[in-house]
Amino acid sequence: MVCQTMSKLAALPSVEKLASTLAPEAALPRPLVNLFVRREIERFRQRLLDGEDHEREEIEEATRRGLREFAKSRLQPVINATGILIHTNLGRSPLGPKAAGALEAIATGYSNLEFDLPSGTRGKRAGYLETALACLLETEAATAVNNCAAALVLTLRTLVSEGKNEVIVSRSELVEIGGGFRIPEILETSGARLVEVGATNKSHLRDYEKAITPQTALILKVHRSNFYLEGFIGEPEIPEIAALARHHGIPLIEDLGSGAMMNTDELAPIEHEPTPQECLRRGIDLVIFSGDKLLGGPQSGIIGGRADLVAAIKREPFYRAVRCDKLILTTLQESIDQYLETKADPGQSDVPVLGFLREKTEVLRKRAEALIDGLSTEKVGVSIEDTLARPGGGTMPRSEFPSVSVKLVPKTQSVPKLARRLRLGSPAIVGYTTDDALFLDLRTVFPESDPVVREALSVVLS
Ligand SMILES: *Cc1c(COP(=O)(O)O)cnc(C)c1O
Repeated sequence: MVCQTMSKLAALPSVEKLASTLAPEAALPRPLVNLFVRREIERFRQRLLDGEDHEREEIEEATRRGLREFAKSRLQPVINATGILIHTNLGRSPLGPKAAGALEAIATGYSNLEFDLPSGTRGKRAGYLETALACLLETEAATAVNNCAAALVLTLRTLVSEGKNEVIVSRSELVEIGGGFRIPEILETSGARLVEVGATNKSHLRDYEKAITPQTALILKVHRSNFYLEGFIGEPEIPEIAALARHHGIPLIEDLGSGAMMNTDELAPIEHEPTPQECLRRGIDLVIFSGDKLLGGPQSGIIGGRADLVAAIKREPFYRAVRCDKLILTTLQESIDQYLETKADPGQSDVPVLGFLREKTEVLRKRAEALIDGLSTEKVGVSIEDTLARPGGGTMPRSEFPSVSVKLVPKTQSVPKLARRLRLGSPAIVGYTTDDALFLDLRTVFPESDPVVREALSVVLS
């Protein structure tokens, strides 16, 4: 028995030798290749000891395949052919060329991050950005932190205290945003006590009024950014809630999510996404939104509104834990400046997602035709289809708008296999599948990427 196991273990390749063979192809740092191979061989040793049978070639091949997949987990560019403009799994909004250029200049040198050039003394971090943000939001003050979730926690921590810890939220807004972000849990971790008002489908002003006590810290509105209510529904208008809050001296905060700076309904046949400016005009005291959704900037959370509240937030010790670094600050500053420069027509900014939103379907169709022209259809049926694209990323859950896709119907392999081959290419191409086809939606593909997509298609179709 022991002898048999020992002879089986002889099938295990040597770590050093196998790592040497696999390293050139893997193109990863050698210590990582060694670590990966050591773990794989250890795993097989355990399985052999457990009585399984594995040949050496099989072990080597499994390790090679595993290493290739591990290399694919390294952060890398991906061609988004899903037709979902703001895809959280694919990195949300790409930066425009100006913002990316600014990033390089700041990243590779020194900067005046916290240095006042006129006086030569210590300066204020993000002072310029905060002024620009407030100007864009047409409000008193603003600041930015790492993301919208952090901005919400920070705001709650600032405004909730032991004696005043109740936060009023409508039952129709106790949402889960994704990635484990749920409003009731966020409130709990911020030391707040949730006071629910209304019903799932309806709330009235008197519900809010009845919920107010001397312990009320704030009223929170949460934008329904990833679902919608339909049917017998209703809720008080923001100005009504704002008047009530003001009467009682309670701040009214809105977690808006996407932060569209322009009228989305003017760019594409989609619904109107409320802008932070509109929220503030209607009487919201502080609005909170993401920088990397429809704004098209880096991952960040922006807080704008009443100067006294923003100042209190910046004094809260937790602010230090969620402040932005210079790379975020410089790309966000560039994005905000661009909106200010193109204020009359925000559609003119070089934010890629806004360009995708505006693009005419005729243009997409022409690109699709050029893309598939002359491709072999022997093994995969290739056609052009009218499809629907979506804003995605917790924005306008109801909005779908016309797009154009290349439809691939494999004849000799399964749809998931074809999709996987494109995902494992360089660069990876991610489309979406139905039962019988793989779709590559061109709305979210940069036109510069068309030749690469065509090249990848010609490989998988031949
Ligand atoms: C997306 C979203 C968030 C989370 O934003 P992050 O920037 O990912 O932290 C919070 N609230 C709402 C309403 C959202 O739509």
